[in-house]
Amino acid sequence: MKFDVVVVGAGLAGTTAARVLAEAGKKALVIEQHRHIAGHCHDYKDENGITIHTYGPHIFHTNNKKVWDFVNRFCDFHYYQHKVLSYVEGRLIPFPINRDTICEVFGVNIATYEVEEFLEKEVKKSKFNNPPKNFRDVVVSQVGERLYELFFKNYTIKQWERDPEELSPEVAKRIPIRTNRDDRYFSDKYQGIPKSGYTKMVENILNHPNIAVLTGVDYFEVRELFKPELTVYTGELDRFFDYAYGKLEYRSLRLELKTYDQEYYQPVAVVNYPNDYDWTRITEYKHFLNEKSDKTTVCFEYPLASGEPYYIVMTQDNMEKREKYMEQVRKLEESGEYLFVGRLAEYKYYNMDQVIEASIEKVQRWLKE
Ligand code: UDP
Repeated sequence: MKFDVVVVGAGLAGTTAARVLAEAGKKALVIEQHRHIAGHCHDYKDENGITIHTYGPHIFHTNNKKVWDFVNRFCDFHYYQHKVLSYVEGRLIPFPINRDTICEVFGVNIATYEVEEFLEKEVKKSKFNNPPKNFRDVVVSQVGERLYELFFKNYTIKQWERDPEELSPEVAKRIPIRTNRDDRYFSDKYQGIPKSGYTKMVENILNHPNIAVLTGVDYFEVRELFKPELTVYTGELDRFFDYAYGKLEYRSLRLELKTYDQEYYQPVAVVNYPNDYDWTRITEYKHFLNEKSDKTTVCFEYPLASGEPYYIVMTQDNMEKREKYMEQVRKLEESGEYLFVGRLAEYKYYNMDQVIEASIEKVQRWLKE
């Protein structure tokens, strides 16, 4: 088979691109360095029938109907709405911050309409840059120093191993602040978890006569063998350019799975630990699909400075380096021979739906031109 397109990486970015191209009549070869497909949303069922997310918790959420319709072609969703509690001062408290969080922390009983005024007073007592310049400023300018210190400061130091003032405001914008009683982690219109898992969903995305998949193969070792019309690259941005402008920082995780001989470990799927212990959060997987078992498996997340790349690091230094690489990317994309898509290749803190959206759009634009 002669391939029109080589897709580097079988995560959501690559497989979505391959599918859209295949449906437009292009023959695509997907090359994946890991021995499995689905990238970091890979999952599997363990011996107790519990679906484990190999690279930590993945909850699908989107406001984009086009993306929602796309993923629904490849799986049925369990309509799970994600809830998180934060372990603060020895208690499990709703997070993101909402009215109930405030009532519990401050021991007050205020109505929803009084929350805004309460937070304004907290913010007035606090010091920060206005307009906000960094992660800390964004949070403190909305909730004040006390709530920042209890819920954000130490979690952020643990996760990123740096002062929150060195991090971009964008990171803080991932977390909403609510004055009502909504205690969901996300407020997107469409939320859920694929009933048969993400791996199965990705397998279905790849299941097309115009798509072939190679796993366990490093693209950089075989690239000379192919002369495709288009290469869709979803790997690490700096590696593609042989680190010409220096290494970009990616953070990793050590995920420790533990199985307990009890039905449940914690009341919700994820509990965050901003201040205590060395892990950032514990995920109890059976909550996601409401799976039943006498045992339960939980995952402790320990942030790491190196290893499998999970996160980009939004500091000024990294973002300046990114700009230099992206200038090269723009040139290659203009040639029509390459597309760079996804968290690693665009060095962007994308969620799953944003990756799919970017991939569909880039490929559709390329097909038009
Ligand atoms: N964060 C925090 N406290 C929390 C949860 C998140 O300070 O309890 C901050 C932290 O800096 C984290 C960022 O918000 O890295 C983004 O959180 P999110 O839950 O989106 O992280 P992800 O799920 O991508 O690891």
